[in-house]
Amino acid sequence: MPLGMTKATHISEHKGHKELTKHKGILEYLNPKYVYFPANRPDLDYEICVKVGDEVKIGDVLTISKAYFPVITHSSVSGKVTAVDKKVWHPSGKKISAIEIENNFKEEVTYLKEQPLTKEGIIETIRLAGIVGMGGAGFPTHVKYTHPKYQTDTLIVNAVECEPYLTCDCVSIKHYAKELIQGIKYAMIANDAKKAVIAVKVCHQDVIAILEELLKDEENISLHLLTDVYPAGWEKYIVEKVQGKTYKSLPCETGAVVSNAGTLIAINDAVSKRLPLTKRVITVSGDGVKNPQNVLVKVGTLASEIIDKTGGYVDDLGAANLIAGGPMTGNGQFFDSFMVEKTTTGILVFKEIAGKEEACLGCGKCVDNCPVKLSPILIKLAYDDKDKEKMVKLHADMCMECGLCSYICPSRIELTEAVGKAKKVVRGK
Ligand code: SF4
Ligand code: SF4
Repeated sequence: MPLGMTKATHISEHKGHKELTKHKGILEYLNPKYVYFPANRPDLDYEICVKVGDEVKIGDVLTISKAYFPVITHSSVSGKVTAVDKKVWHPSGKKISAIEIENNFKEEVTYLKEQPLTKEGIIETIRLAGIVGMGGAGFPTHVKYTHPKYQTDTLIVNAVECEPYLTCDCVSIKHYAKELIQGIKYAMIANDAKKAVIAVKVCHQDVIAILEELLKDEENISLHLLTDVYPAGWEKYIVEKVQGKTYKSLPCETGAVVSNAGTLIAINDAVSKRLPLTKRVITVSGDGVKNPQNVLVKVGTLASEIIDKTGGYVDDLGAANLIAGGPMTGNGQFFDSFMVEKTTTGILVFKEIAGKEEACLGCGKCVDNCPVKLSPILIKLAYDDKDKEKMVKLHADMCMECGLCSYICPSRIELTEAVGKAKKVVRGK
């Protein structure tokens, strides 16, 4: 189904809107007829390991990305490869070439090769399982855990989930708390970490209660409570709060490595059950769907099917806004037939845009709220003027694209997009 426009950063009053899904269980949708995996993207090529007609099992390798840090992708269903160049929408908002697999619903599995429970063995399992940062960043976890230049002694678990509407991490922690703790223990071995700290927002009292109970006898794993602000889930913010110091490029400069809670649950699946990353929990929410839900899905499932599974769109949807991911950092979509990836945290549907862009009021809110202390409106003006020197002076390259400036702007000026473009200009991309 085609939808109204691209990303909606202007969403009514900000209250987090997590109440729509945070107290719900996890709906399962694990039997799609077809699943899709990138075979080629404008920004990334893949080595394709299957051909049309091949029979595959869950866990069989489909592709290896031809990136500086290659990542393996596995089939999430058992069945037959029916295409390797099908044109399918991707969460980035672009149409790409994809591998299509027809599900035979037999759920046959190829398990990962067993590795020793050592630092090297666990990192190798994580690599073979194709685990990436599941909070949205998608950085390969085995690379993150290698950091040869730095000695780490602390694992920080990002359980903050600060983007509005998204509750997939919190709900996953509640459902898979024991698996999370075990995943933390494996990650501690992989990182030589003597302690782990789970960073969670103080407002998630139900999550905190479950974790406190489980951590009673765990001397080396503790909780660190953060206030309910956006972007408390930003890695730099969390590291500063937990470690009491900041870093220039990587958290391991402070002796810490950070992993998202969902990533650690996937690590437990890989090490304990020898299962690669082929499933994830995502949040389907917004005022455009009848029944907001957290859903456990196979990677590669089409968003349209998942929305249908939750109960579909509201009857008066109108010119909808569809986002893959959270409202602040996700990507706007023109069609709901996009594939879910390992990094897709949510599918959000909103009935209407709050209004058109107006002239800047000079209120300074974008400046006051920028977590990196940038001047978004000045950077936008410099970008509009194609004034690179000014963009450099204004440190546009420091933008973390959190979306807060666009979100906060009463004139609904699309600042994040402009600052993101200025960042590229400064970095020469
Ligand atoms: S998107 Fe960039 S400029 Fe805007 S608030 Fe976030 S960091 Fe600051
Ligand atoms: S928040 Fe919007 S209206 Fe206020 S100064 Fe920034 S760009 Fe202008």
